[in-house]
Amino acid sequence: MSARDTTLDVVQTALRLLPWPTEPGLRRVGDPGPESPVLITGNYDLTVRRLIRSLAGIDAWLVVAPSQGINVWCAAAGGLLTSNQVVTALKTCGIAEHVRHRRAILPQLAATGVIATEVSRRCGWKLRFGPVYADDIPRYLAANGRKDDSMRRVRFEARERIEMATAWAAPTSLVAAVVMWFVQVSWILSAIALVWLMSIGVFLVFDRLGRGRWPLVWAASAVAPVACVLIAGGSTAAVVAAVVCATLTLAVLTFDFAGSTPTEGGSHFESKDWAITLDTDRCVGVYSCWAVCPEACFERREDLRKVELLHDDRCIKCGACVVQCPQDALYFATDDGRRIEPETIRRYKLNLLGSRAVDTGGSGALGEPREALHK
Ligand code: SF4
Ligand code: SF4
Repeated sequence: MSARDTTLDVVQTALRLLPWPTEPGLRRVGDPGPESPVLITGNYDLTVRRLIRSLAGIDAWLVVAPSQGINVWCAAAGGLLTSNQVVTALKTCGIAEHVRHRRAILPQLAATGVIATEVSRRCGWKLRFGPVYADDIPRYLAANGRKDDSMRRVRFEARERIEMATAWAAPTSLVAAVVMWFVQVSWILSAIALVWLMSIGVFLVFDRLGRGRWPLVWAASAVAPVACVLIAGGSTAAVVAAVVCATLTLAVLTFDFAGSTPTEGGSHFESKDWAITLDTDRCVGVYSCWAVCPEACFERREDLRKVELLHDDRCIKCGACVVQCPQDALYFATDDGRRIEPETIRRYKLNLLGSRAVDTGGSGALGEPREALHK
């Protein structure tokens, strides 16, 4: 990897909360020909460079679709990488002149926003959702597009956790340092160390704590400022530091992690009662839901040509399965009979992640979503 690539990796990882757009269009990877695979991704520079690196030794075409410089998961879930962007990219980048086939591979995490059947209807390209991770693409291609369990489930391993912690700690510690500059210069290093420790700690364990996280949130928010005041002896500076410390603690611990990791459902949606629901009678065993669910909630029943929703306790309500099911066999419902129909999820790019509140208008029919985007 060149020094420029390494520098860009470090800067874009530390500041990944910002968009990093790269030029949309067609890229050659290696020496592709008319039968070479076609891959599609969003125009987030870090993803594009990582994807090209993971394809080392493979000849392929890469279509970079406009996603406003946002990563695939956030752009698809937030309505910035949809069927429109993919159709536009396929029609305008010139790929049709280079290949004889009309098959393209999308990242699995684009499935919340890009509707495979709609892209096929509008431009004739057949889309398949590849693995979650770019590193698995060589294995996926070698297996002729068959995904095993390790390719379709989000792992959120130590490297990703450290990257997300860095993305939070870098800008936050800068803010903390500036605040401490005005409060007590000698505390700057301590404040930076606190921010990094909290960020790393939170991203290493937060999603593993489940419901047990909330006592931790309130305990940390109470203990941290008291500790600040005690350590600094009750001066005015200590009180200011305590307020800053409490704010930082709450900000980090109550952050809506839905946008930071595909392992986490949103914490702010209006009702937590919505549950993914399968109408078994409608299911005809296309297995699109199985292929796109980042939490591997579905099991294939080849004998019945259907799926079973065996692990709905893991569901993060991303809506990917609902969007992709050609039979409309999946939807969100509550115990008291309210439903969000698949077409509503598709039309509004609405899912139940993050702060996209659902307004049923009290009638059971879904009204306009109050927020179309959360990023
Ligand atoms: S629920 Fe829909 S996508 Fe899943 S297997 Fe059945 S028909 Fe296919
Ligand atoms: S079952 Fe839940 S987590 Fe899996 S794709 Fe559907 S909505 Fe997303």
